[in-house]
Amino acid sequence: MKSMKLLAILPGNCIQSLSKNFSTGPASLQRHFKILVVGAGAGGCSVANKFAHHVGGEKVGVIEPNDEHYYQPMWTLVGGGVKKLQDSVQKMSKLLPKKGTWMKTKAVAFDPEKCTVTTAEGEEVKYEYLIVATGLQLNYNKIKGLPEAFDTDPTVCSNYDYNYVQKTWPAIQNFKGGNAIFTFPNTPIKCAGAPQKIMYLAEDWWRKNGMREKANVIFNSSLGVIFGVKKYANSLNKVIESRGMKVNYKRNLIEVRPETREAIFQNLDSPTGETETFKYEFLHVTPPMSTPDVVRDSPLVDAAGFVDVDKNTLQHKKYSNIFGIGDCTNAPTSKTAAAAAAQCGILETNLRAVMANKPMTAQYDGYTSCPLITARGKCILAEFDFDGNPLETFPINQGKERMTMYHMKKDVMPQIYWHMMMNGHWNGPGVYRKLMHLGMDGPEKQAASA
Ligand code: FAD
Repeated sequence: MKSMKLLAILPGNCIQSLSKNFSTGPASLQRHFKILVVGAGAGGCSVANKFAHHVGGEKVGVIEPNDEHYYQPMWTLVGGGVKKLQDSVQKMSKLLPKKGTWMKTKAVAFDPEKCTVTTAEGEEVKYEYLIVATGLQLNYNKIKGLPEAFDTDPTVCSNYDYNYVQKTWPAIQNFKGGNAIFTFPNTPIKCAGAPQKIMYLAEDWWRKNGMREKANVIFNSSLGVIFGVKKYANSLNKVIESRGMKVNYKRNLIEVRPETREAIFQNLDSPTGETETFKYEFLHVTPPMSTPDVVRDSPLVDAAGFVDVDKNTLQHKKYSNIFGIGDCTNAPTSKTAAAAAAQCGILETNLRAVMANKPMTAQYDGYTSCPLITARGKCILAEFDFDGNPLETFPINQGKERMTMYHMKKDVMPQIYWHMMMNGHWNGPGVYRKLMHLGMDGPEKQAASA
């Protein structure tokens, strides 16, 4: 029994059974890949291309159901009327490894003991090494009335969804006053700054277009703070105060009634689960999120349902031939494409070491970034590590609202994403940060480690 368990945690288990498979010739029709990537979003597409460079595209398989790849960070600007939705989309076929195998389907089961992933068609695809990169699923049905509200009420929108982000800008423009409510749910989400970025863009537009006096701009958040890193929270609180926006903490949206335009929030501080009803004339919803059901129901996850990886190496804690990247893992950092970029380089180094039977040397420090747009032309570029220490790339105080950082977000980052990250050539700005700080840590990190 003991030896079976030991086998199960060693990649050798799968490698042995795979090499048997390779030698069985035509009798074996089972597809097998040296590297199998499940999910080709920001993290998956980038690592698939990285490993295609290393092991050859023909040894890389990708399971991904979508024809199109979305650059989701642009949706803040789409909702804010700055960019067009089509600027955020490219054909998946253009981005995936040229000689790789794209299985255009969903993964429906993971069997890490047999080293297989089952597709929606029932095919068991075998792998030597697996990279799980499925991102997060949006759980609209956890909020009563929300799916109907999205379909029937033009004032209800969400930048988090390809379909509903198209409602945001018209809803901002058509707003004629009253309560404009922006929500933050009681689950981990991707880009924890996005629920408030759209509030700042909307408020800015209403202010510049004579609507501000008639608007009550309200941020109802399940959290207890505006942002998890104190330096940037201080800056954001000043923005909120100076522009007269109202923040209610520990308020979780549980129901939307589109026919009466009411939003019901649970007061998370109330021992009796007290609720409050807000009338709304504009409602931007950030839905609750989780890993996709197939991941949540698999043996790969921790108790909270996230892929259980070592936060520094990104290797699965139980199965050494499995790695995780991006939003679906339990690495305790803010879930962003910027984090996925930094993780790519770590995963590349460590998985290559595992493949060569060498010790893993790369250590992820939790680097993540959130360009907090506070108006058209203004942005606070938050960058920080696992412990909330700022890890700023530029040798200036990024806690200030700056036009330069707005252009970084609007014009430079999309180029880096499409032309460097997607083909596996971008591991985040770590190297540039070191250069700009002459090889030293930023002042906050130095102070923290002193
Ligand atoms: P994703 O990019 O979401 O990709 C997951 C992929 O897995 C998808 O292609 C999906 O189709 C696939 N998949 C899912 N289930 C299955 C299955 N069963 N089988 C096979 N494939 C599957 N990040 C930033 O860095 N900066 C920002 O400013 C920023 N702003 C954002 C604003 C908004 C409005 C949103 C929505 C996101 C923002 N993000 C931002 C977050 C960023 O987009 C995500 O963190 C990033 O895309 C995560 O990458 P990922 O690869 O983990 O997941």
